[in-house]
Amino acid sequence: MNIIVCVKQIPDPETPAASFKVDEAAKKVIPAQGIAPVVNPYDPQATEAALRLRDADGGGKITVISLGPDSARDAIKHALAMGADEGVLLSDPGFDGIDNFQTATALAKAIEKVGEYDLILMGRAAADWDMGVVPTGVASILGIPVVSVAKGMEKDGAGLKVERVLDDGFETVETSLPAVVSISNEFGEPRYPQLRQIMLAAKKTVQVWSAADVGLGADEIGAANRWLPLEALYVPVVESNVEIIEGDTPEEKATALAQKLRAAKLV
Ligand SMILES: Cc1cc2nc3c(=O)[nH]c(=O)nc-3n(C[C@H](O)[C@H](O)[C@H](O)COP(=O)(O)OP(=O)(O)OC[C@H]3O[C@@H](n4cnc5c(N)ncnc54)[C@H](O)[C@@H]3O)c2cc1C
Repeated sequence: MNIIVCVKQIPDPETPAASFKVDEAAKKVIPAQGIAPVVNPYDPQATEAALRLRDADGGGKITVISLGPDSARDAIKHALAMGADEGVLLSDPGFDGIDNFQTATALAKAIEKVGEYDLILMGRAAADWDMGVVPTGVASILGIPVVSVAKGMEKDGAGLKVERVLDDGFETVETSLPAVVSISNEFGEPRYPQLRQIMLAAKKTVQVWSAADVGLGADEIGAANRWLPLEALYVPVVESNVEIIEGDTPEEKATALAQKLRAAKLV
């Protein structure tokens, strides 16, 4: 079974709020100084799902694709250290400012260029822009089924049986292959690469493809060609007023507080 896993590098979600800054004029997130980007937390789970399927199936190749700047190579290397076979970094200055449709288009074209695939695995959402639409977009462009928010899966004849997470339970669906499946955190902990695997991953191939390499012209990508124009990007201002309730005893303070709440028509 040949599986493609899409992994995205994102700003560290643990970045302290004080370090999270946005350039409102350029409508861009300013990378926090001294805090390295990380792989989107759902994506190692997609890699883990691919590894388990390959092990159960007894063979096949796992190719990892990431679209992003050169640093996104680290996200690919993490998947290679987990046990994936090859990596492709889609990187091009023209991708600057891309939207979700362009991301899905570029990934779909890269997947077509990789060629032989039975299954495409992704995370259920990227923890930065959090749109959760790329898996559906890729499936739609490739004209294949998509199953979202999966917590488990197993090969079922020529197809795949997938257990999905619902708001109030689970459901099991069957899909033909090839298909796209997005993986949720309920899938369970991904394996953690050991030092030896990290060193071995350094020897695995990561090809770098430009937009032109996957057949995308400058008039199809980037901020000027977004399908979803970005109107504004800002960190909301949160204002809070604190008033210390005075009083010599706890009873006096409680009475003063109750009076204020009543005056404000809150009780
Ligand atoms: C280089 C770059 C520049 C960008 N510049 C801007 C900008 O200027 N303004 C702006 O509004 N947005 C920008 N974006 C964000 C971009 O629009 C979103 O990443 C895109 O809309 C997808 O939405 P999402 O990240 O919420 O993905 P989701 O749909 O939430 O992601 C779900 C899954 O899809 C896969 N996936 C998603 N993105 C990638 C990827 N890049 N590579 C591999 N797999 C992926 C992963 O498996 C992920 O778990 C940029 C993104 C990149 C990579």
